Amino acid sequence: MTTPNLSILLYHRIAGDREKKAHSVPVAKFKSHMGWLKASGHDVISIDRARRALFHDEPLERRSVVITFDDGYADFVDHAFPILQEFSYPAVVYVVAGLLGQPARWLADGDRDGDETIMDANALRLIQQGGVEIGSHTNSHPLLHRLSPDERVLEIRESKSQLENVLGLAVESFAYPYGVYNPEIMQEVIDAGYTTAVTVNRGVANHSNSPYVFSRKAISWGDSPIGFFHKLYLDNGFKRRPQQGLVNGHHY
Ligand SMILES: [Zn+2]
Repeated sequence: MTTPNLSILLYHRIAGDREKKAHSVPVAKFKSHMGWLKASGHDVISIDRARRALFHDEPLERRSVVITFDDGYADFVDHAFPILQEFSYPAVVYVVAGLLGQPARWLADGDRDGDETIMDANALRLIQQGGVEIGSHTNSHPLLHRLSPDERVLEIRESKSQLENVLGLAVESFAYPYGVYNPEIMQEVIDAGYTTAVTVNRGVANHSNSPYVFSRKAISWGDSPIGFFHKLYLDNGFKRRPQQGLVNGHHY
C-alpha cells in the first residue's frame, strides 16, 4: 500500500484578525483552514504518526496533514488552541525553551519588532493537557551552524531537558531555527534523543528522506482558499531554502 499524500503545515502566529504580518494568520482565516481540512476529508495526525507512516510503513487511510506551529507565541492559547480543540485536531508547537514567558528576542534584530512574547510554563502545560504536543525549537533561536559544538549541545539537548522538566514527559520533536541544518547538526539532534526534526524546506512530507529533515508547507497571512488548496494539493515540488536568504529578514 502506498502512503497517501502527507503534508506538514507550518504556521507561526495566529493573531488578531486586524494584524497583518507575514508570519501571522488571522484567527478567522485559521478557523477556515481547519474547516476546509475537515470538509475535504483530510485526517489530521501527529508528527510521530507521520514518521511511522513514512518510515515504518504504518498505513494511512486518507490524505493526511500534520499541523505545526513554530516559536510558541503566547497568544496561541487564546487564538489557535480553542479552534484546535473545537475540531479535535492534534498539533505540535515547537517552543523556544529558553524564553518561556519572555519576549521573542531574536526577532528584534530583523524586520520585526520583537514585541511578541513566548508562552510561559503554565500555558505549555495547559495546551499539552488539551492534546497539543510540545517540541523544542532550541533555547534561544540561534543559527545553529554558526555555534561551536558545545554551544549547540546547550541549544539542542538542554532545551529538551528544560521542556521535559516543565512538562513531566519526554520531548521528542525538534524544529531547526530558520530551517538551518547540516549533517553534524542532524546527528546532534539524533544523539540528543529526538525522534523527528522539521525544516522549512518546502514540499510534501513524502519527499523527506529522513525523519530528521521533514519538509513542510508554510501557510501565511496572504493565503486565500485557492492558495491554501494549491499548497495542500499541488505545491509539491521540493525546494530547499537558500540559507543566506534565511538571515536576511526571514525569521523562522
Ligand atoms: Zn522559529
